[in-house]
Amino acid sequence: MSESTALDISHIHLGERPLIVCDVDDVVLQFIDPFQLYLKSLGHEFVPRSFRLHGNIVSQANGLALEDQHVSRLIQEFFEDQESWQTPFDPVVSTLERLSDDADILFLTAMPPQFSAHRRRLLDRTGLTFPLLASEQPKGPIAQALHNGRDLPVVFIDDMARNLHSVKEHVGNCLLIHLMPDSPVHRFAPPAAEDIARARDWVHAAELIDQHLAARTIRHANPAA
Ligand SMILES: [Mg+2]
Repeated sequence: MSESTALDISHIHLGERPLIVCDVDDVVLQFIDPFQLYLKSLGHEFVPRSFRLHGNIVSQANGLALEDQHVSRLIQEFFEDQESWQTPFDPVVSTLERLSDDADILFLTAMPPQFSAHRRRLLDRTGLTFPLLASEQPKGPIAQALHNGRDLPVVFIDDMARNLHSVKEHVGNCLLIHLMPDSPVHRFAPPAAEDIARARDWVHAAELIDQHLAARTIRHANPAA
């Protein structure tokens, strides 16, 4: 494992089959909608004026933006309490379950690792029992270490362009899927590179993955094609 990814992945055991690496917040579990409800429960409001939380959360009492440190603390407290707030998108549970017949699924979440146990319990409760890695390090080197150059299809799904670009840099021949909710703040999200597929929803993402895995199977069955 390289120095840039001190994350321990030794407990992840992949089969001789395709790998699907999937972000969690705002891809598998709703984040921005429940986070806004959480803020309201505390007398705050998220006012999306750019693609960031800091500077865009205001007090409902006086309309003033909360200090950055306060926002960081609220995000941490939300992750701590995520089991009471976050729910999966539809139809992510059945879609990933079906895809797991033919591929290894792995969740790679950019969340402080100290909340892994909370997220694990929440995912397990919804039937999403696939392995989970929590790290705030760049995702490209982690995906590279996981896939390790195997001659097998690999897919990466995320709502953040910077994570997709990081994986694009480190993992060749990876199907990259940009999937994000149609929320007011995501309308400010930086676009992903043009050669990165944009999925409308999980049904569309599954179609793209199915096509990618099928194309690979055909090539392997008929290498001259
Ligand atoms: Mg995300």
